[in-house]
Amino acid sequence: MIELTIDNICFKGEEIAVSYHLSAQLKEIEFGTPIKANYSFPLKQDYTWAAMVALGAFLPYLVSRYSNVRVTLPITTTPWMQEYWQNYLSAMFAPQPFSVEWNFTEQYQTAETEVLFSTGSATRIGLFYGGGVESTFALSTFYHKNPILISVNGKDWMNADKEKSPIKYNLISELTQKYKLSLQEITMNVRSLLKDTNAVFNRFVTGNLFYFLSAPIADKFGIGTLYLSTELEYALSEKEHDQSIHPMFVNNIFVKHPSWPLFISIYMGFPKVSMFAKLAQTDFIKYIYSCFNNSHKRWCGNCSKCFRISEFCDRIHLDRRVIGMQEGITGIRENSPSTRYSWQYMDKIYGRKYIREWILFVKHAIKKLKQKIFHLEN
Ligand SMILES: [Zn+2]
Repeated sequence: MIELTIDNICFKGEEIAVSYHLSAQLKEIEFGTPIKANYSFPLKQDYTWAAMVALGAFLPYLVSRYSNVRVTLPITTTPWMQEYWQNYLSAMFAPQPFSVEWNFTEQYQTAETEVLFSTGSATRIGLFYGGGVESTFALSTFYHKNPILISVNGKDWMNADKEKSPIKYNLISELTQKYKLSLQEITMNVRSLLKDTNAVFNRFVTGNLFYFLSAPIADKFGIGTLYLSTELEYALSEKEHDQSIHPMFVNNIFVKHPSWPLFISIYMGFPKVSMFAKLAQTDFIKYIYSCFNNSHKRWCGNCSKCFRISEFCDRIHLDRRVIGMQEGITGIRENSPSTRYSWQYMDKIYGRKYIREWILFVKHAIKKLKQKIFHLEN
């Protein structure tokens, strides 16, 4: 049993800060630094929403580690919240047993309805946008509907740490200006507070965080539906990956009440290479950013995303310069449970070329060896 206590919720204009502590030290979760999220507009003081953000960040992860969790919240009793998490956690963990005990200290008086927000009759579309193949493909299909693009960034957050490299955000900015789209950025620090692997973070946190953090934007801009278009291939591989953004799971995330927006996954089930090929027939292809390393180069040339995108270019005969990719990046076949699907789809659609694959493998091995020797010499 572990206890998660939310101590304080502080609204400071465009920022929300939620301080918390745990009853035991856990090397993966830092406490002492509050959860923070920043927006481009002043936030409504909705304490229930703030509690949901904090629970979305930690509760499923804690249940995965301890099975029994006691939660203390500084708000008035909210039976719907308990029911929400019971359903969510059952969908995620059943048949594994778990229990959550709830305690409400009523430090903050909260609204009788679910939240202060109201998106019930809203019709605008929100799209989570990160510049990658899936979200850009989704955008290319309905940009004329004037969706609000929602970009979540923050310290250590995969390839969305603005402080490490602005390249991705410069591309997003160019794109939004050209198509006169509205971009809403959320800067948050949760990835640096839960220090487990990306796979674990995507399994237990990402989907919740996207949804709950976006609720004020949905309210402000009249968004009724939040669309998520993200990789299918990892989610396909095994339950351990990407469960919180799995197309079969996101339906468990949105709160079933008119005040909250819908959260729907789209185009998952459509292979990445097919989306890439479609994008290559549009102007949107120029804005693709997919490298995993947030380096000073748009394409680092050393990560699996770079390898795959390079291979996509070869398969569909796209000049790499269109996506700002330098020469010399070669696609190396990947065979892990979570990456093999991309290659299998490519083979299925474009055919497998064994000799070319071997030549690339040998070239890559020589390149790696040279890098190793170079490092040793230095
Ligand atoms: Zn890369």
